[in-house]
Order: sequence, then structure tokens, then C-alpha cells
Amino acid sequence: MSKDPALELKDIHKTFGDHEVLKGISLEAHDGDVISILGSSGSGKSTFLRCINLLENPTQGSICFNGEALQLKPGATDLVAADMKQLTRMRQKIGFVFQSFNLWPHMTILQNVMEGPLHVLKRPKQEVLEYAEYLLNKVGIADKKHMYPNQLSGGQQQRVAIARTLAMDPQILLFDEPTSALDPELVGEVLGVMRGLADEGRTMLIVTHEMNFAREVSSEVVFLHQGLVEEKGTPEKVFGSPDSERCKAFLSTAF
Ligand code: ADP
Ligand code: MG
Repeated sequence: MSKDPALELKDIHKTFGDHEVLKGISLEAHDGDVISILGSSGSGKSTFLRCINLLENPTQGSICFNGEALQLKPGATDLVAADMKQLTRMRQKIGFVFQSFNLWPHMTILQNVMEGPLHVLKRPKQEVLEYAEYLLNKVGIADKKHMYPNQLSGGQQQRVAIARTLAMDPQILLFDEPTSALDPELVGEVLGVMRGLADEGRTMLIVTHEMNFAREVSSEVVFLHQGLVEEKGTPEKVFGSPDSERCKAFLSTAF
């Protein structure tokens, strides 16, 4: 029996006012898939990623996690969650790493990583502490655990943000341009951590402009253009011989 996709999005639309930003995007991610989402600025990458866990409400479409449909009902302009408990439960399975890290500035690195499992998942403190230390070690920041975010470089902060996301034991990881806010010399350390997660078999959707990275780690590459999937396939196909002229033009400027 084939397993349901971890994530299945069908015909996702999103309109802001009279601007239709997403015009019907479908995507499936199975366990262990690493899907890179490429596209020019304004093509709808962030909006699409945010629709997956209703940080943004789609105006049309359906979303399933592990075969379970997310219940949606019409709101004023968009589809909104019909069952907040279901949404909360599903959101806990989906980790989101933002471009801007979003660490809590008044908490130490260790407290940042422990906060969710301790206060949201209500796990025992000793267990949470040990897991947080394990994760900080994994992302190479263990020695900074008692420092505050503003005492760390951007690359270090983003690695903490990844550890904080992992601390919630997500099934799926979403990354929205995780290295775009970093100085070039700090990009590699964050991509290194992400590569390790891909090697572990984590299920990841990554919006990125790091083309070499996308080519190396992805099981599938999706190129968006004006709110539609313009090209998708294996990295070999999309980077090597894309059908779409727009995709070709985009890639020729990206390397
Ligand atoms: P990308 O991440 O590919 O750069 P975005 O998803 O951020 O693209 O944006 C796609 C389009 O949607 C852009 O034209 C942007 O201006 C518009 N947009 C995004 N968020 C909003 C919003 N909250 N309100 C109005 N327009 C938005
Ligand atoms: Mg974006």
C-alpha cells in the first residue's frame, strides 16, 4: 500500500485585493523529499510557503497532511481554518525557518531553543534541556548557549533558528530564503546545516536563490513564474535542460 504524501497541496490560489498572486499551484511532498522552490522576486514563493500552514490564508485550494485534509471554510475574503485545534496540531508538525531568524532577543540561545518544547509541547524540563543541547551541538553553536541573539553573527543566529525549529520535532521543514539576509561569507555554514538535514532524510521545502545548493540537495526543483508552476522536475532536468524559456533565462542570470 502506498503511503499518503506528507504534504499535498492542490490548486492553491491567493489574491490580495484584486492582485492574484497565486494562480493555482499544486505540489506533493513525500517523506524524505527535498523540494527547492525557485523564481524571481514577486513570483509568489513566500506567499505559497506561507499558505501551507495558513500564515497566509489561500483564497482557493486544498491542503492535506499525511492524507488528512485541513478543514477550511470561507472567511471574509479567504479560506480560513474551520477547526483551530486541527490547525494547531498540523502547524506543530511543520517547522518554518524565516529569512530574518526571528529569535527572541530577550532570551538566551538555550532559552530560545527550549521555549517551544517546554511551554507549547509541555515536555519535561530535563528532557527539553538535553535535547536543546544536543541540537545546538548539531548546528555547531553549543559554546554560545548562554549568549543572547544580538551577540551572535547572522549565520550563527540562523543556525540557532534551525535548532529551535528542530526542537519541536517537525515532520516537514519550510525554509524561506534562509540565507538571503546573510553576509556572503556566512551563507556556507547555514547551507552546511541544511545539507546535513537533507542527508538525514528530512522532508524539506526550500525557497532559495542558492542554485548550486538547490542542484545538489533537491529531489525536485520547482520554478514559479507569476504565481504558477512554470517548470518542475529533477535538478538534472530543471538545471540541465529546462523546457521553459523563462526558466532558462532565470537560471542563466542566477549562476
Ligand atoms: P516572492 O517570495 O516570490 O518574492 P511574494 O510571495 O513575497 O513573492 O509576493 C508575491 C506578490 O504578492 C508580490 O507582488 C507582492 O507584492 C504581493 N504580496 C505579498 N504579500 C502581500 C500582502 N500581504 N499584501 C499585498 N500584496 C502582497
Ligand atoms: Mg519571498
